[in-house]
Amino acid sequence: MNRVRSFGFATRWRIGALLVWLVLACLLPGILGVAVLFAREYRNGRAQLERDLMATARAMAQAVDSRLLRAQTVGEVLATSDALTRQDLEGFHRRAREVIATTKVGMNVVLSDESGQQIINTLRDFGEPLPRHGHPAMLRRVFETAKPVVSEVYIGGVLRRPVVSIDLPVISDTKVAYVLSIGLSPYDFNAILVAQNFPAGWVSAVFDHTGIIAARTHAPEEFIGRKGTAEYIQRISESPEGVMETVTLEGTPTLSAWRRSSVTGWSVGIGIPRQLLERDLMHTMTWLGLGLATLLVVGLGLAWMAGRIIAASVRALTEPAIALGNGQLVPIPEVSIQESAEVATALRQAGQLLAERSAALVAANRELEQLARRDALTGLHNRKSANERLRMEFLRLKRSGHPYAVLFVDVDWFKEVNDSYGHEVGDRVLRHMATVLASSLRATDFVARYGGEEFVALLSETTREGALRTAEVVRRTVADQSFPVVGQVTVSIGVAMARSEDEDEDRAVRRADKALYKAKEDGRNVVRSS
Ligand code: GH3
Ligand code: MG
Ligand code: MG
Repeated sequence: MNRVRSFGFATRWRIGALLVWLVLACLLPGILGVAVLFAREYRNGRAQLERDLMATARAMAQAVDSRLLRAQTVGEVLATSDALTRQDLEGFHRRAREVIATTKVGMNVVLSDESGQQIINTLRDFGEPLPRHGHPAMLRRVFETAKPVVSEVYIGGVLRRPVVSIDLPVISDTKVAYVLSIGLSPYDFNAILVAQNFPAGWVSAVFDHTGIIAARTHAPEEFIGRKGTAEYIQRISESPEGVMETVTLEGTPTLSAWRRSSVTGWSVGIGIPRQLLERDLMHTMTWLGLGLATLLVVGLGLAWMAGRIIAASVRALTEPAIALGNGQLVPIPEVSIQESAEVATALRQAGQLLAERSAALVAANRELEQLARRDALTGLHNRKSANERLRMEFLRLKRSGHPYAVLFVDVDWFKEVNDSYGHEVGDRVLRHMATVLASSLRATDFVARYGGEEFVALLSETTREGALRTAEVVRRTVADQSFPVVGQVTVSIGVAMARSEDEDEDRAVRRADKALYKAKEDGRNVVRSS
C-alpha cells in the first residue's frame, strides 16, 4: 500500500511512507538508546542497592557484636567482683542488680552452680527459690572449658520465653566455681533493627551462630526462636557475607544481603521483597513506555499529516499541468506548501508564455499562408491561390449553380518591352498592370498573376454578357493608361464561362486560354470568348 512498484524500474515511494520511515529512523535509535540507558541505570541502581544493603548488614552485624561483647565485658567484670570472691552472695546479688540497672547491657544476671541450679537471678529477690539453668548443655561446657560462651536462643529458666545468654566462668582456686550468665532479651536486638528505619515491607532479622532467629522486624513473636530458612543457613555457613535472591520464612521472594560476624558467629540478614523492587521498575517502565509510545504516535501522526498535505499539494499540480499541456488557461490551485505554490506559479507563467508563443505562431503561420498565396512582384494572388479559388468557385457552381466567368489576360508584345527597356522596366510595367487590373474589377471579383505576363480574373455571379462587358472595360482601361517609361501597353483577353457539366475547373481555364489564343490571332488588344 505504501510502495508503488513501477514496472522494470526502481521502486517509487509515497511521500507519506517516506516521512513515516524518516520518523521511525529518527525515533527508533533514540528509543533504543533510552532503553539501553534505562537498562544500565537499572543495573547500576541494583548494584548500588546491593552495596548499600551489604554496608547496612555489616554495620548491623557489628552492632550485634558490640552488644554481645559489651555484655561479655560486663559479665567478666562481675565474675571477678569482690562480693563473689568473698562468697558474699547477697552482696553480689545487689551489685549485679545495680550493674544491670546502670549499664542496661542485658535483662538479668544469673549465677548457677555445677549441678545446673540457679543460685542467684536478679529477676528474683535474693533467697527466693529458683529453677535450674535453661541451657544445661552450655552450662556444662563452661564448667568444662572455663571459657565464656555466647548462647544460641533458648527458653529462659525463669521467664519461660526466648532468651540469649552469655555464660562466663567464675574461677575460684583455679576451678570453675560458678557460671555467671548475662541474659539478653531478643527485644534488645530488635532495637538494632528498628534503629535502621527500613522502608515498609523490608524484612530484617538477627540470627545466632546456629541460625536461630534472635530478632526480626516482621512478626517477631512468631519467628524468634525458630531457625532461619535452610537456604539462608546454608549460605551463611558458606560465606561471611553476600547477596542472594531467596524466599523468607513467610514465603516472600526477596533480594537479601547477609553478614556473619567472625567474632560471635551471629549474622544479620536484610531482605527487600522482589515485589517492591519490581513495582518501582514496572512503574518506571510503564511511564517510559507510555512516553515513548506517545512520542511515536505523535511523530507518526505528524508524518502522516505532513505526508497528506505534501501529497495533496503535489497532486494539486496535476490539473494545471494538464491544462498547460492542453494549452488552456492554467488554474492556480489552493496549496499549503510554498514550493508547490511556486511550481504552480511557474506553471501558470509557462502557460502564459506558451499562449503568447502560440498566438505569435498562429499569426506567423497566417502570414506565411498569406505570403504563400501572394505574388511577390505585384502583390496580387499567385497561381496557387488562383487554382484554389477556381476549385472553390467550381464546387459552388456544382452545388448551387452560381455561374462565373474566367478571364485570361496576356500582355501584348511584352517580350519587346523587356528587350527594349530592360527587365526592370518590364517589372514596373507588370506592377502597374496589376493595379490597373485590380481597380478596373469589382471588389468581389478575383484577380491573380497566373505566370510571366499572364493574369487571370474570376468574375463570380456573372453572365457571359457581363463578363464580355467587363473584359472590354479592362482592355480599354489598360489601353488608355500611360505606363511608366514605355507609355501605352495593350492586353488581349480570352473569356470563358464555367459550365456545371464541366468535369473540373480546368475546362473553363482551357477554354479561356483558347479564346486568348484567338484574340492574339485576331491582332491583339481585343477580347474573344469561347
Ligand atoms: P505576345 O503578344 O505574343 O504575347 O508577345 P509577347 O512578347 O508577350 O510573347 P511571350 O509570351 O513569348 O513573351 C513573354 C515575355 O515576358 C517573355 C519573358 O521574358 C517576359 N517575362 C515573363 N515574366 C517576366 C517578369 O517577371 N518580368 C519581366 N520583366 N519579364 C517577364
Ligand atoms: Mg504570354
Ligand atoms: Mg504576351
